Amino acid sequence: MNRDRCLALDAADPLRAFKDEFVLPKGVVYLVGNSLGALPRRTAERVRQTVEDEWGKELVGGWNHSGWYAQPLTAGDRLAPLIGAGPGQVVVGNTTSIAVYQAVAAALRLRQDRRVIVSDVRNFPTDHYMIQGLAGLLGDYEVRDVSEGGFEDAAVVLLAEVDYRTGARLDVPSITSQVQAAGALMVWDVCHSVGAMEVDVSQADFAVGCTYKYLNAGPGAPAFLYVNPRHHAAAENVLSGWNGHAEPFAFEPGYRPAEGVRRFAVGTPHVLSFAALEAALDVWERVPMDAVRAKSIALTSLFVDLVGDALELASPADPAARGSQVSYLHPDGYPVMRALIDRGVHGDFRAPDVLRFGFAPLYIGYADVHDAATTLLEVLDKGLWREERYARRLAVT
Ligand SMILES: *Cc1c(COP(=O)(O)O)cnc(C)c1O
Repeated sequence: MNRDRCLALDAADPLRAFKDEFVLPKGVVYLVGNSLGALPRRTAERVRQTVEDEWGKELVGGWNHSGWYAQPLTAGDRLAPLIGAGPGQVVVGNTTSIAVYQAVAAALRLRQDRRVIVSDVRNFPTDHYMIQGLAGLLGDYEVRDVSEGGFEDAAVVLLAEVDYRTGARLDVPSITSQVQAAGALMVWDVCHSVGAMEVDVSQADFAVGCTYKYLNAGPGAPAFLYVNPRHHAAAENVLSGWNGHAEPFAFEPGYRPAEGVRRFAVGTPHVLSFAALEAALDVWERVPMDAVRAKSIALTSLFVDLVGDALELASPADPAARGSQVSYLHPDGYPVMRALIDRGVHGDFRAPDVLRFGFAPLYIGYADVHDAATTLLEVLDKGLWREERYARRLAVT
């Protein structure tokens, strides 16, 4: 597969027009969209509008006149189709860490007769940390690793659809039904799948995810929480903040939960971050997700083919079994990645030895993949990563 053939594939790509909707520095191949998505062109104007026209002119009236107050639900409704959910099932706000806490705590209260939380030690650590904190607070709970098998006595199972380190993808429908058949509740974390493929959590009990990775809503953008409608009446929000109250402006002394998913709202929405999320959702509304998945598979497969056996593949070789990410193992992964970034190809490194490359189909093309692989092979072949300056660690890897 030479570069001209890649350019021809880019020209025939049904998603090619989306690349122009993103701001990407010249000379950079950005393969970190699985960590922080690129900036949509429309975002700056949308944020300016919220700052100058809404906040600047309406002041506190913005809560009513600019829809700020309703944002956790209006953004949730717009996001819902990306995870196979319907209106009134998703609330947006806070962070994924907090949404994990809310979802797992609510699930535990729905299954009070069981005392086991099943999690995956290989999952992104914050999910696991939040469970440890929750179990410590509740006391008398066992946190069990999924590798130890068996869901029979589990109250809740929390898993990530796509593994952040290897990109390995789990079979959501089949695991969800296994877990539920065992009488446990299923919580999915879709941080690394939403925006990269068609996601369907509609059979799950709860689901959580973030909007700053493939969804491109910007650094620190709010997270989302899906609650299956069958739990809307009984599920409780342990983070019982005033925005989840039935009548926040009644200022009652006692907490009464709102109807529906709104009871999972906590405090004041992050209005400026919501503006950037709305700009990102303006793009997603026009994106055919089947084309995204098809291109994602083509891009990751092309990269795997071009890199060949120059590096040890950590991701599943079968594209159906991975997300939109390709990972490799290298004992000197850190300096290899630094040398690569120095040459305009941005991936990232996860300790101890994982090189990650995320392929966001809206703004990464076939020629980008070709250039990234060529540069990577050169860094490896010529040992360019051995330069001493690449070994020094930066704060964020
Ligand atoms: C990125 C990611 C998070 C991020 O959590 P924050 O609270 O938003 O920092 C959590 N879980 C998983 C699986 C992730 O990939």
